[in-house]
Amino acid sequence: MIQGSTELIAIVGSPVAQVKSPENFNRWFANQQQNVAMLAIDLAPNALQNFIETLRGWQNLRGCVVTVPYKQLLAGRLDGLSERSAALGSVNVIRRENDGRLVGDIVDGEGFLSAARQQGFNPQDKKTLVIGTGGVGSAIAYSLCQAGVSHLVISDLSTERVEALGELLRRAFPEIVISADPASLEHFDLIVNASPVGMGAADDDGPMPLPPALMQTLQGSTLVADVVTSPAVTPFLAFARHRGCAIQTGPEMALAQLGNLGHFMGVTPLQI
Ligand code: NAD
Repeated sequence: MIQGSTELIAIVGSPVAQVKSPENFNRWFANQQQNVAMLAIDLAPNALQNFIETLRGWQNLRGCVVTVPYKQLLAGRLDGLSERSAALGSVNVIRRENDGRLVGDIVDGEGFLSAARQQGFNPQDKKTLVIGTGGVGSAIAYSLCQAGVSHLVISDLSTERVEALGELLRRAFPEIVISADPASLEHFDLIVNASPVGMGAADDDGPMPLPPALMQTLQGSTLVADVVTSPAVTPFLAFARHRGCAIQTGPEMALAQLGNLGHFMGVTPLQI
């Protein structure tokens, strides 16, 4: 029950009917007997500037999760950004400080890493491949670099995106070997599909984010992950599991990220 004394967080996007964060956060707050609640806000684009002013003055609001289409639009309009948000030009969470200042971060990559660490993956000195360099793929690539991988290979249908992200990462992490488009999948410790390929696939024969000849080089010692949330086991993950790989699903990343989002807003511990 929301009361006058309830502290609020929000998620803003458009549309928002499909988002899972409100039920996940509100279940956690209820189970922990926390007097905090999350609201979903379906915001029209022409209301964005007024919304930012409202956030600054909303005294019982601790923060706001940001989803499509506002991740990039909001990044340029806040009062402070984390280093990675500034580099990537994107936010997926905002904290409202007590004085009304709005500070943003992007924790998609941290959520991904929290889930990977939970199954024993240590990114230090690892060789990694990220397929898809959009909002989520860029954030995962950045967090992998911050966490100390030795090699990062990125690939995308868009060569411009690969070049732009590669340049940004080489500047921020000169000690890491960063290249594009793998010739083989051998020797990777971690491979992540961060593209939407596989979303909505009805069976294991659905589309793959890499060509079949390349898929045949996948080794059973590689951790294979997907960001796609539905189905949980994409054709890519089903193939990897069949080859003997450990797998990490999109819903596992989404669940792990709740702690990163809540912790940034100051309403949950880092791991929930
Ligand atoms: P986006 O549109 O910003 O980026 C997608 C990228 O994938 C683009 O650069 C596109 O060119 C590339 N791509 C498409 N097909 C490809 C292919 N065959 N090979 C290589 N690259 C390809 O999208 P986004 O915001 O980064 O979201 C990506 C996915 O992540 C979506 O499916 C979204 O639902 C999912 N997602 C998952 C979580 C989670 O917690 N699990 C969180 C947010 C988003």
